[in-house]
Amino acid sequence: MPNKPAKKLNANSAFSYACTRCSACCVNKKIQVNPYEIARLAASCKTGFAAFRAEHTIDGVFLKQKSDGSCVFLGAGGCEVHADRPLVCRIFPLGRHITENGKVYYSNPVWNPMPNGKYGKRGVVQDYIEDQGVVEFASFADAYFKWYCKARDYADGLDENGELFEYDDLLNIDAVIGRYGNINSFDQSQNVAERATLHLEILNNLLKEV
Ligand code: SF4
Repeated sequence: MPNKPAKKLNANSAFSYACTRCSACCVNKKIQVNPYEIARLAASCKTGFAAFRAEHTIDGVFLKQKSDGSCVFLGAGGCEVHADRPLVCRIFPLGRHITENGKVYYSNPVWNPMPNGKYGKRGVVQDYIEDQGVVEFASFADAYFKWYCKARDYADGLDENGELFEYDDLLNIDAVIGRYGNINSFDQSQNVAERATLHLEILNNLLKEV
């Protein structure tokens, strides 16, 4: 965790960072994952959404850590799910933040310990994050955050039959699509982005009904 408040940066702020694979981003970090990220990781692990959450997360929201504080996916050769690693891992050592009115900004925290990579000012924040392949991740992170802001006051109890459908269950892409989606149009082979888009569509429609 950062040990000092970080300075705010914007997309045009000078920044560059050359990773040396020191794995500082993978130890003693609380990695929060949204449904899109869970679905990506579940596919990477060749398991289902619910099984992934049960096996690899705490409360379905944070990636588990090993006893030494390292991420459950940190192996001898580095991240074992590198192609599907979550947004916060991609943009490390930067932080990405979004306000409730949709304004995005970045931070460059003073980490403890600091990573061994080379910090510089050869580019700008936007260059750095684009290099990390974050566009789809950021888009879904923002969409889920926007839904969460709207839903947090009445997320529980949305079931139209009067049964309690917990907020936690609403984050399960497959359960929500299975329960509320048009089954005829849902193909299990749909890719993660298509399923997450459908999930968000259903979640947002549910909000219109309450
Ligand atoms: S998912 Fe990969 S990159 Fe992210 S903390 Fe875990 S091991 Fe590190």
